[in-house]
Amino acid sequence: MKRIALILVLSFTLIVAAQKAPRGGSSSLPAAVQQAMNSIDAEKIRATVKYLSDDSFEGRGTGQKGGDKAADWIAAQFKSYGLQPAGEKGTYFQSVGFYGITTNPQESQLQFVPQSGEPITLKFADDYVITDLTHAEKSVIDAPLVYVGYGIHAPEYNWDDYKGVDLKGKVLLMLVNEPPSDDPKFFKGRALTYYGRWTYKYEEAARRGAVGAILIHKTDMASYPWEVVRNSWGGETSVLKDDTNPKLKAAGWIQLEVARRLAKAAGQDLDKMMKDATSRDFKPVELSVRVKQTVVSKVRPFSSRNVVAKVMGSDSRLKNQAILYTAHYDHLGIHPNEPGDNIYNGATDNATGCGILLELARAFAGAKQKPKRTVLFAAVTAEEQGLLGSKYLGMHPPVPARNISLDLNYDDVQPFGEPQQLVASGSERTTVYPVVESVAQAFDMAIQPDDHPEAGHYYRSDHFSLARVGVPAFSINEGPLFKGHDLAWGEEKERDYVAHRYHQPSDEYRPDMDFTADAKLAKVGLAIGWEVADQPQLAGWQPGDEFEKARKAEQSAKGAL
Ligand SMILES: [Zn+2]
Repeated sequence: MKRIALILVLSFTLIVAAQKAPRGGSSSLPAAVQQAMNSIDAEKIRATVKYLSDDSFEGRGTGQKGGDKAADWIAAQFKSYGLQPAGEKGTYFQSVGFYGITTNPQESQLQFVPQSGEPITLKFADDYVITDLTHAEKSVIDAPLVYVGYGIHAPEYNWDDYKGVDLKGKVLLMLVNEPPSDDPKFFKGRALTYYGRWTYKYEEAARRGAVGAILIHKTDMASYPWEVVRNSWGGETSVLKDDTNPKLKAAGWIQLEVARRLAKAAGQDLDKMMKDATSRDFKPVELSVRVKQTVVSKVRPFSSRNVVAKVMGSDSRLKNQAILYTAHYDHLGIHPNEPGDNIYNGATDNATGCGILLELARAFAGAKQKPKRTVLFAAVTAEEQGLLGSKYLGMHPPVPARNISLDLNYDDVQPFGEPQQLVASGSERTTVYPVVESVAQAFDMAIQPDDHPEAGHYYRSDHFSLARVGVPAFSINEGPLFKGHDLAWGEEKERDYVAHRYHQPSDEYRPDMDFTADAKLAKVGLAIGWEVADQPQLAGWQPGDEFEKARKAEQSAKGAL
């Protein structure tokens, strides 16, 4: 709670300071930055959004024709602006291989077999969902079930649910989220850390040699209902081909009521089990139940590309380091079996981010004077498949991750006019925050804190893929207050978008879109990036942050620069 209060005070200070600043803002920025910034054109962003969201791109699906066409077009823009290629073999591309995995609900089976009494046989989608992340066509499991509480090992919070117990070959049963707390020093209080996300839990279980992990779904703890789990795990799940990390044969979820029955069959009480997990002294409990499971999957290999380009830095030494701008170009593609309009055009999500990325590329490439460090641009694929294009980029960055000072990401920047608030959630966790503050002030914008830190939005956008390899990273976006309107107007526009266009075929280009917003955020990002690119030291994480470890590991392995 303390952290949020502090940010509110800072925002207030900024509002007061901004009121004193000259109108039009940004006059305190260096001339070279001003010049580059002035070349950013809202109408060029409009043209990109209109073009990339045209039906001819068929919704830019990953591994689909329209997605490939978009990648080619973005590369051609980079080239025409004079950027150098930063991809494989002197090209603008990184090719990324995937497996699409669809569980066959008829042939797959999940059974809990207690020592005594009837086995519990579950129904796919209603009771459970499961995915074989090893992308085998068939996996058979017959293993003990071990309850591991939250399934978290977080040394910085002095928390270890595993207590060194050998879990090789076992199936783990665990809770979503993290131990509840209002203490900002303990799992960041109410805010969700990466330890609370299901992705972490599956990764940790696999690292410990488990063959499966089953999460107990509880709506308030997951912050979304069972339908969301069922819909997102019921269809195809994609994984990176080139991922050498250990993987689970069975990564799944069960409904709360199923977990209750299961606990009872094992002679336990689920409420007590959940309460026990909130204690530091919790130890894994092997339940008197075996898991018998067959997972049959349809596996579809496919490939797609990230588009990467660069503007070289001006300093003979620092040009070997970089700052990075990212935006995903993929969207949900075309759904041939749906009646009516079945093209998911993705105008706002995320042709807007692409429009901003391209304007930034044009501005940096055309700048008379260049920043000291190199500036990288990446239009990434497969964001909608679970941040996979950016995950690949994080694993194969054009410049080693230890030498990338900052990643600024753009996703879904609403063209609603001139924003008065800047959202840069996660920036306060990095050493870049003072730069964000001064740039916000120069632009007459108040910094708007994350309204729902407990939902863990930080872990759901492409910048996170860079953060997990240690790069200070965050997205920048606008708050709901726009010039000439009250707060309620902006909030209503946002609600209307989420209800009627977000992830729907109706996310289309409209002539009444006002790209002032996107141009302003491009300028804000340019100013922040340029200053970080010129700083004497690489940016880092605040001491004790969950990503500081990854940064140190990257940098101590080979040393920065
Ligand atoms: Zn998006």
